[in-house]
Amino acid sequence: MLVKLIATGIAALLFFVVLIAAAAASILTAFTNAGNSGSHQPSPHALADIPADYLALYQQAAPTCPGLDWSILAAIGKVETDHGRSTLPGVAEGTVNHAQAGGPMQFLQPTFDAYDDTIPPGGATPPSRYNPHDAIHAAAAYLCDSGAPEDLYTAIYAYNHADWYVRKVLAQAEQYRTAATVPPQAGGWGVPAQGTCTSGFGPRNGERHNGLDIAAPTGTPIVAATDGTVIDSGPATGYGLWIRIQHPGGVITTYGHNHTNHVQSGQAVRAGQPIGEIGNRGESTGPHLHFQIDAGGQPVDPVTYYQQQGAPSLCG
Ligand SMILES: [Zn+2]
Repeated sequence: MLVKLIATGIAALLFFVVLIAAAAASILTAFTNAGNSGSHQPSPHALADIPADYLALYQQAAPTCPGLDWSILAAIGKVETDHGRSTLPGVAEGTVNHAQAGGPMQFLQPTFDAYDDTIPPGGATPPSRYNPHDAIHAAAAYLCDSGAPEDLYTAIYAYNHADWYVRKVLAQAEQYRTAATVPPQAGGWGVPAQGTCTSGFGPRNGERHNGLDIAAPTGTPIVAATDGTVIDSGPATGYGLWIRIQHPGGVITTYGHNHTNHVQSGQAVRAGQPIGEIGNRGESTGPHLHFQIDAGGQPVDPVTYYQQQGAPSLCG
């Protein structure tokens, strides 16, 4: 009898824990959606200087602090440890510097411990300040608690109490952002993701490939090809997770196999606005973007279509 009561109690407790986890996940998703609109694209300097895995982590963690731009996290990562590449003490696993800070974002253990339960899965178990995923997510949470994004100066000052430090971080962040969040021409077309074209439009293995495949690491940003309205954002057979955007003139663009989507159906988007991240979901054999353009209800060759629009080349 007692055993049964205990078992019932544990079952009830487990149910409660699941409920809390579900609530936390939905809050996080809401933040991700709200936080990503208007974020900046990496500048050529950022793409050259920041390792791809770190860039993806900065971009993934920033939206957990709604309105915080990824470039602030990236600038802190640069100033602190050159994105984990510094060979100074306190960067490598298990070492600390003279101030007891450690890891790519230079956390003191007690500060990191205060945030380790806010870190989503994907890093070390248990979370570690030496793990880039965990450290960057903890940094986003810490900045948010310290006033970001509204009071960025105070937030960065909390990270390291020096005026020169704040100015250095802000200047670095500026260098990492492109000047404009949208291409110069309103209504123009831009490349939806930076990557390598691996499979073109047309016949493929006895079937027809209705789009263009652009391969890039999971987490690489996907941006809206041109201005429009999101008509689908969610799971889709074959595509895993997709986004479809309606544009003027009966044109629809499709973005498939996504790792995450940052937009919702009904949302207006601008050319170049981040809408999601490249992934490997659905019928996919490696992380890539399936980019499809339908004009008048028929899929057309995206490469040819871009040439006709006078748009930048899709495949470099
Ligand atoms: Zn494809």
